[in-house]
Amino acid sequence: MTWMGSWRERAGRIILDPHDPDGVPIDTPRDRRWLWRIEATLTTGATTDQQRLLARDLREYLRETCEHHWRPYSGDEHVSAHAQCLWCNQVRWLDSEL
Ligand SMILES: [Zn+2]
Repeated sequence: MTWMGSWRERAGRIILDPHDPDGVPIDTPRDRRWLWRIEATLTTGATTDQQRLLARDLREYLRETCEHHWRPYSGDEHVSAHAQCLWCNQVRWLDSEL
């Protein structure tokens, strides 16, 4: 971990990348993206019950209020066509109206 430089050098794609991995522009506000980064950091790095509870509550809040950024998958022989949210990982099946 380096303490040199600015936050922009450590922010990573989750906060700064204007496009998702498919090249589609991301409309999610930067403040919201910071919250997802904090949640991810707390989820993997919490060392106290207080931090774990904060991670759980933040994750629950973010999932309840997620403004989804859907990434479509055309499907293959193993999984049918669906879209998955870049942020909360919710899945929406695209052929569910059969
Ligand atoms: Zn979502």
